[in-house]
Formats: sequence, structure tokens, C-alpha cells
Amino acid sequence: MGCTLCPRACKVNRSEKSGYCSAGEDLLVGSVVIHRGEEPPLVQGAGSGAIFFSGCPLKCSYCQNMQISHHATGHTLSASELASYMKRLQDLGCSNINLVTPTHYTYEILDALDRAHDLGLSLPVIINSSGYEAVSTLELWKDHADIYLMDLKYGDNPTGSILSNVGDYWDVARQSIAYIFESAGVLRMDQEGRGVAGLVVRHLVLPGMLSNPFAVLDFLSDLSVEIPVSIMSQYNPDPYRGDINDMKRPLVKDEYETVLERALELGFSTIFKQDMDACRMYVPDFKATDPFGDEPNLL
Ligand code: SF4
Repeated sequence: MGCTLCPRACKVNRSEKSGYCSAGEDLLVGSVVIHRGEEPPLVQGAGSGAIFFSGCPLKCSYCQNMQISHHATGHTLSASELASYMKRLQDLGCSNINLVTPTHYTYEILDALDRAHDLGLSLPVIINSSGYEAVSTLELWKDHADIYLMDLKYGDNPTGSILSNVGDYWDVARQSIAYIFESAGVLRMDQEGRGVAGLVVRHLVLPGMLSNPFAVLDFLSDLSVEIPVSIMSQYNPDPYRGDINDMKRPLVKDEYETVLERALELGFSTIFKQDMDACRMYVPDFKATDPFGDEPNLL
């Protein structure tokens, strides 16, 4: 049977060819790195133990990780090799294992997590996702994932069509986030302020507010204002491949503050913010030995 791990359900036989996400038979990893650019409860200790997987089911036209998300570039790892890297991140003092865009390698990663637990891995595991997830695949993760760091990128379907070439983003992402909220609850922390379980939702505000942030916040507030929302200003126009003029410029302060004010009005209890220069701080170069300019790629 062909692959249906993500909602694109392109049904390719990945032992014969790659799917829309660029994933074929092999598990490809772009980077294994200690990362401090996540929300504060997720970067305690040495930082977040991030594993960036190559390929992506969504492939947004402005993706800052385009070097690895749009192309199957990276290192081929076996499940046991991936397990060893997870354990190494724990030994280096990371506070979690942060699986960045893992969906298309679900089976291989679940195998690796079982092996890593045999090696002594005990850290919380983060699913760091575009939000475009099938509930049937999220069910596979249920006993292996602790924290769900989910994007809610757009507040309507047409924007997803234009920027991510998918016609049902808003419908699918709302379902997946509602499912996680019901099954995992909101982010909980231990006594040191370290995130240990539950849901955090991210929204990257796009210039011109094309992402429809008010619809996103209204939807989340209807679920619960206890859901921590991370409102991001880090949009970088450089990788954008398209012809929308607003997308060719950075976000401006007024746009960002308008969204923050709306989140405050709605009564969200936890709002993570970014500085307006964040777009320069979080642009990785996966061809460099230190993708984020500090810690080395361990691969
Ligand atoms: S995960 Fe990849 S191969 Fe599988 S359905 Fe989605 S795009 Fe297709």
C-alpha cells in the first residue's frame, strides 16, 4: 500500500520512488544540533536537542529551512544510528528531543525511539510540526510523544493553496490541533520551568497579515485560552519564491503588535513573543558546520 502518513496521501510506494515530501525509503536527517531558538520552556539546560529531518509534506514557498525541507539532502541514518544521536543529545545536557518535521519518517523514528529508550533515553520528546497532520498518524505517536509544538500557519484554506500548495490546510490543521488538545492537554512544566508534556501552538505572522492571524487566534481561544501561543515575528523574505509583493518584505512592527494585542484581548494566559530582529537570528544554514551559528551539527 502507498504512503498515507500525511494528509496529502500521495500513496506512492516509497521503496520505489519518493513522495511529494521528497522522502523515499531511506531516513534522511539534515542536522542534529543543540538549539536555543525555541520557546523558553523548551530550551532549559543546554538547550533543545533538535533533529531536523530532510524533506517535508508541506514545502511552503517561504520556508527558512528550504535547504533541507524542499530537497532530500542530508545524511542517511539507520534507526539505531538515530537512537544513538538521541542519547548523545541527552548526554550533552539537552532538555528534550525535538523532532523537527518528523511525519514522513514516522515508522523509522518510532523504531529509533524504542531503541533510544533501551539505551537510557528519558527526555520528553517533541513533535515539531507544520500542523498539517493526519489524526491517524498522530495516533501512532501517542505513546511516544510528550510535547506537541504545532504550527497553525493560516486561518483559511486559500492561503494554504497559494503558499503551501495544499487546498485544505485550515480544515486539516484545526482537526489535528483539536485532537492534540483533547488527547494531550496544554503545556505543563516541571519545577524548574522545563516543558514536559502538552500542546504549544505557533503562528508566524506573515507580512500584510496574509496568514489571517485573527482567525487563528479566534479558533484557538474557542478551544482554550490556556493553550500557550507563540506569536512569531521571524518571517524572512529571502527564501520566498513567489510573486506576492507583501511576501517580499519583512514583517513590520505595527502588524506584529496588532496580532499581539488581539491575543491579549482574547485572554490567552501564555503568549510567547519575539523581538522584531528575530528574522536575522533564526535563519539556519544547513550547509554550515554550525547551522545556527553557535552549536555544531553533530552528524
Ligand atoms: S508523507 Fe510524503 S509520501 Fe507520505 S503521503 Fe505525505 S507527501 Fe506522500
